Parts: sequence; C-alpha cells; structure tokens
Amino acid sequence: MVDLSPYFQNRPADKPSTVAPARSEQETAGACQHAANRVYSACLADEDRRSRTRPPVRLDPEMMSLKCGRALWFGLNGIRPRSAYGCLARALERGRLARRIVVRDLRRAGYRVDWTGSLECGYIYGLTRRPHLLEVQPVPDTVFQRLEKFGLGSAIDLEIVVQCRMGFARMDRALFVAENKSTQELHFERVQFDPEIFNQVRARVGEVMDFSATPDGTYDEDCAHCCFRASCREALAAKKAG
Ligand code: SF4
Repeated sequence: MVDLSPYFQNRPADKPSTVAPARSEQETAGACQHAANRVYSACLADEDRRSRTRPPVRLDPEMMSLKCGRALWFGLNGIRPRSAYGCLARALERGRLARRIVVRDLRRAGYRVDWTGSLECGYIYGLTRRPHLLEVQPVPDTVFQRLEKFGLGSAIDLEIVVQCRMGFARMDRALFVAENKSTQELHFERVQFDPEIFNQVRARVGEVMDFSATPDGTYDEDCAHCCFRASCREALAAKKAG
C-alpha cells in the first residue's frame, strides 16, 4: 500500500491564516475574488514600496526605450512609476524572477556572470575571450518568434535598451538573451554597439527633457501596460479641471 502520509502532514487546519475566514454564505461566495484582490493589493503595495526605496535612475535604458513621449517625460521628471493594477505589479515581479533564473542557468552552464539586481543587467565572461554586457528580457511568444527569425533589429524597443546599456557601460558588445514567456525557450544573440542608435535615442531624450509642460501621449493600446498611467490620468484630469 502506498504511504500517503507525507502529503497530509501539513493539513490546512494545522496552519491558521492571518486572513479572517469567510463567515457567511455571501462571504464564502465572494471568497475567491476577495483572495485575488488581496493578492493584487499585496503585490501593488510591495511594488510601490520597492519604487519608493529605489534611488531614481533618471536615464534608465528601459525608460529611454518608451515609445510614448509623455511617459518618457514623466520618467525624466522624477515621477515615480506606479503600477496601476496588482496584475501589472505581478508582471514586473515575474520579469525580475525570470531574469534571475536565466542568470542562474548561465552560471550552471559554467559562465561567470556578474549581475546587478538594482539595474537588472550584468556582464558575462567566457562567451568569447572578451566580456559581454548581458541583457535578459522575458518576451511574449510572438516577439520571441520574430527574434528567432529576424533578430534583435525586429524589436526596436528591446534594441534601444541593449544599445543604451552598452553606451552607458562603454561596452562594444553584448549578449542579448530573450526568454519565451510561454515555453521558456531561450534566444541568444550577440549584439555590436551601434553609436548611431545610441546618439539618436539620447537626442530624443534631450528633446523630451526640454518640454516645460507634460507633452501629449500616444493614448494607444500600450497605455494598458504603462506604469505612468495613474500620473497620466491625473495630469489629464487636472488639465480639464484647470
Ligand atoms: S498612459 Fe498612455 S498616453 Fe499616458 S503616458 Fe502612458 S503610454 Fe503615454
């Protein structure tokens, strides 16, 4: 007979929760939605705490790759990104975890990797005789397939991030690793520094920085994932009211 006792050693009844349990039928019916909302709120609170304690990085390559000039302006003016929804906060956390797993796997494979968690990038040694800047990005399946077929040049926002990181780090080569969020497949690509892209991006950032008032935004499908969405709406409301 199979011994199932290890599965029942930590029964739920033995581990009281800090959450008040549902007491009425009505509360029980809403318990799952309540649980989801609690998780979102907890993630949101954690992400907000993280963004408050993190020193503002004014020229963050991820920010420099933002297509929307309004979002870029918020970032350049020290407005802290706020996750509008708990699920977006979860997505950011999953991105950080995915990067850490890829770094761990590269180390397992024998490469030396110096990783800076606060900047979310690092250096890899052993790929060729010279070190490479290391950029890791989890991407949706559609983007992954494009990267596999056409390379980094097919994803301009990602290319800007890699080029800017190389520019700031004064590195002339990088290893770009994309992880397929659906299948966990990895795409590896060596990238050479392109000063033209770096200078174009810096020029655009300079132009946006010079705006004295909040510029117009793109107001498109990207707004759903924008971490400046709350500030954007507040600024619009204030403009309408004023
Ligand atoms: S919510 Fe949309 S329009 Fe507003 S800053 Fe973000 S991307 Fe731009």
